[in-house]
Amino acid sequence: MSKAFSIQQPLPCPGNYFSNMTKNTIQLTEALYDYLLSSSLREPEVLKQLREETENITLSVMQISPDQGQFMQLLVKLLSARNCLEVGVYTGYSSLCVALAMPEDGKLVACDIDEDWTAVARKYWDRAGVAHKIDLHLAPATQTLQQLLDAGKHNRFDFAFIDADKSSYADYYEYCLKLVRPGGLIVVDNTLWGGSVADNTITDPDTSAIRSFNKSLLHDERVDISMLAIADGLTLIHKRAHAA
Ligand code: SAM
Ligand code: CA
Repeated sequence: MSKAFSIQQPLPCPGNYFSNMTKNTIQLTEALYDYLLSSSLREPEVLKQLREETENITLSVMQISPDQGQFMQLLVKLLSARNCLEVGVYTGYSSLCVALAMPEDGKLVACDIDEDWTAVARKYWDRAGVAHKIDLHLAPATQTLQQLLDAGKHNRFDFAFIDADKSSYADYYEYCLKLVRPGGLIVVDNTLWGGSVADNTITDPDTSAIRSFNKSLLHDERVDISMLAIADGLTLIHKRAHAA
């Protein structure tokens, strides 16, 4: 299962075992990642089927990992989220995770531009019995997010997941910060971008956009943040009360 996800080699473990444990995030070998999944993953059959179908679709590497999906479900439940946003649906794995974690009257506004990929998503939303919770907007996400603001939906959302084109992350973040309520959460994917953000010789547009987004977030007083070394890097952004 783990072959689809990038696994780094472990750091050499120095003599002082405890200092290594406290100062570094553990590096996942393939065997350890398999252990993590076999010890903690509670993936419903419908999500497993979607993951398997997506393996045969172009750019399947774009799909979030199942442990990340389960983590996002926990966040949605912790927030008791009823109104969620997603920017970047692809074949619908992350949106299905979120929809399954919300109560029956929960709503997810999902943004994407690709009809073919989201047709797969719709099929699985139906199969999982959550299609009624998801409102898919097939249009550039900035357009959809602006429409939500024009419709007066400031501070209406509990949770937003940003996982579309990296060059627009800064724009998506500013929109989501307006749309998410104080105390709500914005989760941004791929913030470690395969490690390239830490290599200043890599300056392609996507890497530069993510690096610049990460930098601007560090001193953003409107939010509290935590950058997690899960999957390809996941940044949690909590909107402070005075940021409205
Ligand atoms: N979250 C998804 C999952 O778990 O499977 C993966 C999303 S994939 C990384 C990025 C998606 O963003 C693609 O489906 C792509 O069509 C979409 N996308 C790219 N540019 C976009 C735009 N301007 N507006 C909305 N969606 C866009
Ligand atoms: Ca992603």
